[in-house]
Amino acid sequence: MNQTILRIAVPSPLYRSFDYLPPASVATNALQPGSRIRVPFGRRKAIGILIEVTRQSELEHARLKRALEILDAEAVLSSDILAMTQWASAYYHHPIGEALATALPILLRRGRDVPDAREPGWRLTQSGVQVDLDTLSRAPRQAMVISRLRAHPLGAPRAALEVPAEVLRSLGKKGWIEPCTLEDAKVAAVSDASTPHTLNAAQQTAVDAVTTSLKGFGAFLLEGVTGSGKTEVYLQVIDTLIGQGRQTLVLVPEIGLTPQLVKRFSSRFAVPLAVLHSGLSDGERLSAWQQARSGEAQIIIGTRSAIFTPLARPGLLVVDEEHDSSLKQQEGFRYSARDLAVWRAHQLDIPVILGSATPSLESLFNVKHQRYKHLALPNRTGAASMPSYEILDIRKQPLEHGLGRPLLKRIAHHLDHDGQVLLFLNRRGYAPTLVCHDCGWVAECPRCDARMTWHQREQQLRCHHCGSQRPVATSCPECQSTELRPLGQGTERVEQALVEHFPGVERLRIDRDTTRRKGELARQLEQARSGQARLLLGTQMLAKGHHFPKVTLVGILNADQGLFGTDFRSSERMAQLIVQVAGRAGRHDRPGQVAIQTHHPDHPLLQLLIRQGYPAFARAALAEREAARLPPCSHIALVRAEAAQQSLPLAFLEQVRQHCEATGETGVELWGPVPAIMERRAGRFRAQLLLQAARRAELQQLLSNLVRQLEQMKAARQVRWSVDVDPADMF
Ligand code: ADP
Ligand code: ZN
Ligand code: ZN
Repeated sequence: MNQTILRIAVPSPLYRSFDYLPPASVATNALQPGSRIRVPFGRRKAIGILIEVTRQSELEHARLKRALEILDAEAVLSSDILAMTQWASAYYHHPIGEALATALPILLRRGRDVPDAREPGWRLTQSGVQVDLDTLSRAPRQAMVISRLRAHPLGAPRAALEVPAEVLRSLGKKGWIEPCTLEDAKVAAVSDASTPHTLNAAQQTAVDAVTTSLKGFGAFLLEGVTGSGKTEVYLQVIDTLIGQGRQTLVLVPEIGLTPQLVKRFSSRFAVPLAVLHSGLSDGERLSAWQQARSGEAQIIIGTRSAIFTPLARPGLLVVDEEHDSSLKQQEGFRYSARDLAVWRAHQLDIPVILGSATPSLESLFNVKHQRYKHLALPNRTGAASMPSYEILDIRKQPLEHGLGRPLLKRIAHHLDHDGQVLLFLNRRGYAPTLVCHDCGWVAECPRCDARMTWHQREQQLRCHHCGSQRPVATSCPECQSTELRPLGQGTERVEQALVEHFPGVERLRIDRDTTRRKGELARQLEQARSGQARLLLGTQMLAKGHHFPKVTLVGILNADQGLFGTDFRSSERMAQLIVQVAGRAGRHDRPGQVAIQTHHPDHPLLQLLIRQGYPAFARAALAEREAARLPPCSHIALVRAEAAQQSLPLAFLEQVRQHCEATGETGVELWGPVPAIMERRAGRFRAQLLLQAARRAELQQLLSNLVRQLEQMKAARQVRWSVDVDPADMF
């Protein structure tokens, strides 16, 4: 049968695409893979992506349905994004329809037209820049437009403003905003660019290595100690690319890191820059996507999902803080944005730079096997020197809300000498446990195998795993005693100790509880950076990537959590966190000091880390992985399952195991099934089966076979299951 057939990926949990006939009266030569097509799907209509035009189908012609409508004259997914997402769908064993939907901005998923790049936009006039927003309290939509345009000094497209046209017209009449096109914006770009630093020798070597190989693929691991000028290396490579009119995509792990980076990039280059992260509205996201796709934006900075951004003239990919586990999506489509970046760069035949002060063992392993080129920045720039470490043994020491005397003494010393102090504790709330002093009752989450954290200010018990909360009881539900006591420390409790010990010293606590309101994190980070707050206390939000030039002392309140974690990556994570937090100290001209409180001062990994540094630690950790045949020296995947009934996940995974054994694939070892470390979470019981193989291909083969079987399996319908390839976490 010589009939055109459209193979379409429709968002659904099914591991396959669907065949349709083209809509009536559509010229088939106009059909481009990567276009959106509306199709009948079951009883509803859905928007799918055309992945292939073919002439054959497994279905009889008579049974094929007709697609309804082609939404795009030109593909919305470029061929490279289409190819990468198809590859990722197969590699991470995620349904193709859902994977491709992930690659599109949400408004396009819902059928909105692709905005025109030359579509007119608006920008602030001089008087608009000076408007006092308080005078607009009765016109909130006008105030919103003004504040949004302040964030887009070059002008923003109409779609990003998301207000009715009359709001814009009345602002125009007041003379506060004026129309522009994005072409104008390019011309109007700021030109007070900051001047590049003169590179030191190591930076120069790194820049040269990349710029001399811009013509083809190359993966570079830029391992530079904290404050060694990695960002300056990116900037100078990008400078060359801008000269060639090519775009750079920069991935960062945290939304909190983007404003700072955006500021450095935009003050260096007078070119349009697009930012993509989860804090954007759908309209803003679509317009940033469009600016990247049209080639308008020359630099694109974004978090994980920005890896799917189309680029008109791609020149370079950068993954900053490449070790960070938030680059791996932990639910649904479990892709690693770092690994996809390397794949995409290879496919586009352009270089990719992975940067970190504490590279993942995966990347170091790739360097060892000559897949990545290693570029090292061993020293801090300018007058800054590396901080010195000190281990504070807290065994048998009195602790006041988690603070030992030696640490208190050091804090006082630094404050007296005009220093700034940063304290790190990876636990928010007042205390992680509330216990009855009379009978030993402990407050537990009714829905999880976990304790409730006591939040003192709100007088609430909260579960950090499922979010459930309740007021703190005044007496024990078991014995009615009123002797309920907090056990352990969270940031809220440490803060109280700081108030008592250092009254009058300006303090700042940064954790998820203090930064819930929009814009709050950025405001607090600015206060930390300026040195206005002299005592900083926080969780890992405070640890990552920030440049606090005035910090002279970093205190790590409890290093023990990571030393005895249940995950094989616990010690790697601990080392990365310690080095990253420590890296906030002494970044300017004053030397920094790092004090680490621990009950295990002689722990060999801790000793190695602080005496010889991260590279030596990583070498030892990699040798351990090799001996234990753990990733990156082997390949693993987890099949997870959960259900409200305890026996179901284990029974299902037992069947999965039997299925795997029946395939006769001997290259894959099976471990489990076992209950998850925290078996019950949010009222559901969880279990997992670990698959491990020396060779990736065998693991992949087994998984492809498996997911097809799972769709048929009856037990699979009684649980929620997922496959996680290269899992970042083992629970
Ligand atoms: P990293 O990204 O490695 O943490 P940064 O790029 O933030 O380091 O650099 C740390 C500081 O050093 C920044 O203030 C930066 O402006 C400055 N810097 C970078 N390169 C140089 C250089 N070659 N000479 C002097 N200062 C530099
Ligand atoms: Zn009691
Ligand atoms: Zn819970």
